[in-house]
Amino acid sequence: SKDNPHQNLAIIGHVDHGKSTLVGRLLYETGSVPEHVIEQHREEAEEKGKGGFEFAYVMDNLAEERERGVTIDIAHQEFDTDEYDFTIVDTPGHRDFVKNMITGASQADHAVLVVAADDGVAPQTQEHVFLARTLGIDELIVAVNKMDIVDYSEETYREVVDEVTQLLKQVQFDTEDASFIPVSAFEGDNVAEHSENTDWYDGEILLEALNNLPEPQPPTDAPLRVPIQDVYTISGIGTVPVGRIETGIMNVGDSVSFQPSDVSGEVKTIEMHHEEVPRADPGDNIGFNVRGLGKDDIRRGDVCGPADDPPSVAETFQAQIVVMQHPSVITAGYTPVFHAHTAQVACTIESIDRKMDPSSGEVAEENPDFIQSGDAAVVTIRPQKPLSIEPSSEIPELGSFAIRDMGQTIAAGKVLEVHERE
Ligand code: GDP
Repeated sequence: SKDNPHQNLAIIGHVDHGKSTLVGRLLYETGSVPEHVIEQHREEAEEKGKGGFEFAYVMDNLAEERERGVTIDIAHQEFDTDEYDFTIVDTPGHRDFVKNMITGASQADHAVLVVAADDGVAPQTQEHVFLARTLGIDELIVAVNKMDIVDYSEETYREVVDEVTQLLKQVQFDTEDASFIPVSAFEGDNVAEHSENTDWYDGEILLEALNNLPEPQPPTDAPLRVPIQDVYTISGIGTVPVGRIETGIMNVGDSVSFQPSDVSGEVKTIEMHHEEVPRADPGDNIGFNVRGLGKDDIRRGDVCGPADDPPSVAETFQAQIVVMQHPSVITAGYTPVFHAHTAQVACTIESIDRKMDPSSGEVAEENPDFIQSGDAAVVTIRPQKPLSIEPSSEIPELGSFAIRDMGQTIAAGKVLEVHERE
């Protein structure tokens, strides 16, 4: 029901472990695919003499979605349980999944980690768990998938559970906050009903586990922040920046400021889903028009906020980062590309201030000479071009980033403190 609290759910896991199939299964089992659509597909399939048609239909649709999906604001998949209305915050199989996870993950309240029983922990399993941890997702449902392939073997299931438990411990995930469920997304075992194929398992099934997740934190009362995705010129209207409201509210008539471009003006119109609206809220994707604003005055990567509480622009900032994978070592002076909200800016790691002991969270070493894969550290960062970014404690939606180099995510982090540009 639409009166239930909302949950944003991330589906994470190694490629081909069954994320899309599980999403399809969840949509199907919760009746989120309209009956008439299923009926139509059933008839078509019967004509062709094929079985398993309904579920196949959902999967075809997801595959299409996947091919179209380029940006992070693609049509989100939605389904309801008795307790919650769920939105899948990213479409699995996305090319930029990891990056999107970082720029969009502050919205994810919880995550389902999909691990194929026949493959166990794989590189992206590690990467995604690691990111989920860094970005503050603290409750995980682990779906041990493809149980049909391993003949529903309890022994194989136990092995995978042990392997995942080890991984969770490595990244300081409290394993008490993780639940494990043997499923087959393909066959539907333990998704909506207890499966007879796993009579050795008497724990929660997937929909129960989703229902029993804790309620998400209420939205913060942070000021308006809209990272700009694109800037269009529309005849008859003028310059139209578009983006998603991360925090706060925008009203027609508001005085707003764009940073770091440092221009301001009054909001004349707001458009959402091709209709004019007087106000927009967090999560809304909007296009808006600001009096007197020229197309070249602002750009992708700017953040729009209230003129009297404008987005921060960092001269430098201090952040806690975790190094995921780097072929050698990271030293002061390293200048990779930082991805934060819609901005991509080269930034120099100016100093490595402290290395943290990942097992205790305490300072392991002051001013270390270098850090490497697996290390957590507090570093001071200097953007090479102006960058708008916020302390994670104040506006978490604008306080995390990914560090990319050589086509890979090298590290992820959270902003501790911003030293603003004069
Ligand atoms: P993703 O890359 O993680 O989204 O994985 P997909 O959902 O695309 O699945 C990859 C392949 O595994 C596809 O061929 C699926 O049909 C298959 N698959 C997914 N889940 C299951 C399952 O539970 N059992 C079996 N036998 N195959 C599955």
